[in-house]
Amino acid sequence: MTTPRPDLLHRLAVQTAERESANLRRRLRTIDRAEGPWLEIGGRRLLSFCSNDYLGLAQHPQLIAALNRAAREEGVGSTSAHLICGHRREHAELEEALAAWTGRERALLFSTGYMANLGVLQALLARGDLCVQDKLNHACLLDGAKLSGAELKRYPHADVDAAARQLAAHPNAAALLATDGVFSMDGDVAPLRELAQLCAREQATLLVDDAHGFGVLGDDGAGSLGAANLGQHEVPLLMATLGKALGCSGAFVAGSAPLIEGLVQFARPYIYTTAMPPALAGAALEAVQLAQKEAWRREKLAAMIRRFRHGAAELGLPLATSPSAIQPLLLGSADAALAAAQMLERQGLLVTAIRPPTVPAGQARLRITLSAAHEEAHVDRLLAALETLRLPAASRAAGGDPV
Ligand code: PMP
Repeated sequence: MTTPRPDLLHRLAVQTAERESANLRRRLRTIDRAEGPWLEIGGRRLLSFCSNDYLGLAQHPQLIAALNRAAREEGVGSTSAHLICGHRREHAELEEALAAWTGRERALLFSTGYMANLGVLQALLARGDLCVQDKLNHACLLDGAKLSGAELKRYPHADVDAAARQLAAHPNAAALLATDGVFSMDGDVAPLRELAQLCAREQATLLVDDAHGFGVLGDDGAGSLGAANLGQHEVPLLMATLGKALGCSGAFVAGSAPLIEGLVQFARPYIYTTAMPPALAGAALEAVQLAQKEAWRREKLAAMIRRFRHGAAELGLPLATSPSAIQPLLLGSADAALAAAQMLERQGLLVTAIRPPTVPAGQARLRITLSAAHEEAHVDRLLAALETLRLPAASRAAGGDPV
């Protein structure tokens, strides 16, 4: 008798049940209303420290007006992929503005950051190539490498020497090194200058995913590469998203004109999908202009970050070494992180507990994100609530350096 074929739906249900029994089930919640940093859920108004709306642009009246204007002129959907008839004036203007802001020759829009990373890695890499990545890179960089068929090597977080050894071990393979600019769960900035020097020495191509640095870091908000003064020559591949500091949705890759032309030809997640709605591109163009012009948003965010770090250090909380809007408190066990998030919620504060598999086992945390939409009183309220939780004190193991 042949063994019966495994039932895929049953297997998935078992995996889900295992997550539930390990207390690691992710729960989907419906937000009834969003107003700045306030969210209404099930009739309760909560002060949120979870969103990536770092500059407080997501509800800006000028973005909403731009979206409406473009929708009136162009309709809602783009009606097809970019290469068919979906590439509208709004997309082209946004691409030009993004290229100018990031100091690159050209930029190319993708519908999401996830797809942008899949597209770049799949278009550039092939079987037999080498893809070297920081262990804490975002999931879509890892998935892009897997999709490409290249050999994937992951180096310990921010360890440039380890990355160098991985490159040196494959001296003849075409190689790409990919790193987050600002790490999404830790908030720290990659050693970009050292990685750029390494890539120059090893003739490897450097890709920086600046989803969390773009709009926030650098005097003009051009991101972690702008802040480190690294141009197209040092970092040929820059990817960033429009769904975080810019308050919209979508992403782009910026680089040389030949690179972008190559992506148009070969990046399947660009070619075979519907272009983002032109109205969204219109709103994002407005966001680009506001984010560049209104430096006070970055200054206000920086003031919130300073206030939080100073207060958290005074309370001896387990802060991570993060200069960015992402300020994790490292609690260790998944249960501790979940319990802390639940206690904060009872006090009217929404903070996400980040647990395995999103972070390694034993490194669960509260991921606090700050925004220019917050006021000092909001940060003080969060600190006061954290004080009541009796969290473990800062330790070296937690990487806690004060302010
Ligand atoms: N890269 C990083 C570092 C991210 O944090 C995210 C989103 N969380 C993405 C890429 C994916 O971007 P998007 O949400 O636009 O798909």
